[in-house]
Amino acid sequence: MWNSVFREHQQVSPMCLGFLQWDQHSEEQWGLGWREGAICNKCTYKSSMFNLFKEIVNKSPGRKAADINRGLQVGLTQVSMGNAGLRKLLLSASIPAPSTKGCKKFRTKFVKKSYKKIF
Ligand SMILES: [Zn+2]
Repeated sequence: MWNSVFREHQQVSPMCLGFLQWDQHSEEQWGLGWREGAICNKCTYKSSMFNLFKEIVNKSPGRKAADINRGLQVGLTQVSMGNAGLRKLLLSASIPAPSTKGCKKFRTKFVKKSYKKIF
């Protein structure tokens, strides 16, 4: 991500000597996955958004699911902890936790589908 952002910033504003940094106002959390962009502190450069997670490849249209969220839900089936426990654990460590509704939706959609393939 940063290599392409540095290159694009240099092409858009060749004389700018500003520093590139995370654009915290436009970051998006999707479960445990994040989408981030970069901005320049001197000029008006703003990069496009980048997924900081692997996407699950499928043929359905629309936004692709984050692989980290599927792994999390599969892992939760192997321990005696649900999404509510996971949220408490993450929030205790000051890690932004995914929403309960989002976890439930993801669990329903992907874990049940994965179990059907395995068993
Ligand atoms: Zn700049």
